[in-house]
Amino acid sequence: MRVCVLGAGVVGLTTAWALTEAGCEVVLVDAASAVGTGASAGNGAQLSYNFVAPFAAPETLWHLPALMRDTAAPVRIKPRLNGGFLRWNLEFLRACTGRMVRQTTEAQLALAALSRAELDRLTASTALSFSRQANGKLVVYRDKTSFQTARRQAEAQKGLGTAQGVLDGAQCLREEPGLRIPAALLQGGVFTPREEVGDCAAFCEGLAGQLRARNTVTWRMGASATPVLRDGRLVAVQAGGAEIGADQFVLCLGSGAARFARACGFRLPVEPMKGYSLTLRPRNDAGRLVHSVTDADRKLVFAPLEREGGQVIRVAGIADLVGEDRRIDAKRMAMLRKGAADALEVDLDSDPIGWAGLRPCTPDSRPLIGASPVAGLFLNTGHGALGWTLACGSARLAVDMLMQRPPVLDGAPFSPKRYA
Ligand SMILES: Cc1cc2nc3c(=O)[nH]c(=O)nc-3n(C[C@H](O)[C@H](O)[C@H](O)COP(=O)(O)OP(=O)(O)OC[C@H]3O[C@@H](n4cnc5c(N)ncnc54)[C@H](O)[C@@H]3O)c2cc1C
Repeated sequence: MRVCVLGAGVVGLTTAWALTEAGCEVVLVDAASAVGTGASAGNGAQLSYNFVAPFAAPETLWHLPALMRDTAAPVRIKPRLNGGFLRWNLEFLRACTGRMVRQTTEAQLALAALSRAELDRLTASTALSFSRQANGKLVVYRDKTSFQTARRQAEAQKGLGTAQGVLDGAQCLREEPGLRIPAALLQGGVFTPREEVGDCAAFCEGLAGQLRARNTVTWRMGASATPVLRDGRLVAVQAGGAEIGADQFVLCLGSGAARFARACGFRLPVEPMKGYSLTLRPRNDAGRLVHSVTDADRKLVFAPLEREGGQVIRVAGIADLVGEDRRIDAKRMAMLRKGAADALEVDLDSDPIGWAGLRPCTPDSRPLIGASPVAGLFLNTGHGALGWTLACGSARLAVDMLMQRPPVLDGAPFSPKRYA
């Protein structure tokens, strides 16, 4: 089977890899000239296999009015009078129930476990170097209510096989000596010892290198794709002045997926949620992080990555529903810098510019994996805040479905039909 994968971010590349493993002829198309330049380029580096809480939750509803008013909140929503956006928001509100949170958590944990296993399998057969470390994740809370909610989520996840420890503020500071938040400001934290970090951009480059070395993929980089439909079936894409035909197309366009779907004549519930990151050097050895850390109430993550010349700390956060706009807003970036300086001992001059990217978000935070309403087009997209974590498992599930093999896990929770 000849399969054309649309998008060479982490989801498209892992899909291409899984397809070549299944014996398919693969064409990979991306508008950018290099792989992994979209959301995969500067993300928070968390391989968050056990920490999968969705954005849509009952407590999000309670906080929503305050978030809409507060311009300094880590989440910002710019209302737009656009049918797709309004519908996405209604679907988001509908997903803010305890039952949906439980269903999503269960589904995401299963997909995350598959992802870890698939990444292990991939790294066992290739020499990929992307600063992968299993150094555990400490999520700290400044607010009493959010700490209590996290405690409950940790209890609920225990039944799903996740080992997590609940710590008080002083224990958090002992566990992570690189943390500089004063004890009086910390309610406590949740420590997950088996959590991992890894440099997603380095992984994308490494995997592309492996695919090139095996000569199993035809590359069409620097080519923005638009659909060519015949009798309601996607038969080709127009990309870089050429028409590329295939038996199947897999949509992995991240925040560009909804636009491509619209051009095919259907609506995809994927909204871009802008986030920012910085890659900073610790100011001294005492500022190095041992674990990955999340400052939960400020919605910031800090991941230690090993680079030539020593540790760097990837600082990432902010969730702005402001449309497909990748520009760096100076005020939001200043917030991120302040967040880093308040929690860590880092050299802010070591990354003077920073980065912004768009998370491709579905209302319930679960990716869309399955057939689309258009024949010939399969979906593997909408991974939101967890695309790096879920990429390898999603690729395996998508390719099992495409090749009509018994899927390795139940794909129903990720079916695009839930939004039909
Ligand atoms: C600030 C931030 C922090 C994050 N932190 C984490 C984290 O810690 N852990 C985690 O698991 N996830 C994290 N994520 C989420 C994760 O980065 C994304 O879910 C993931 O990168 C999505 O991968 P993708 O391949 O679907 O999309 P992308 O990486 O965006 O790739 C999509 C590709 O499609 C191409 N494209 C788009 N339209 C077209 C077109 N019409 N034709 C051709 N090509 C096109 C683009 O050029 C791009 O290369 C974070 C995201 C952000 C923004």
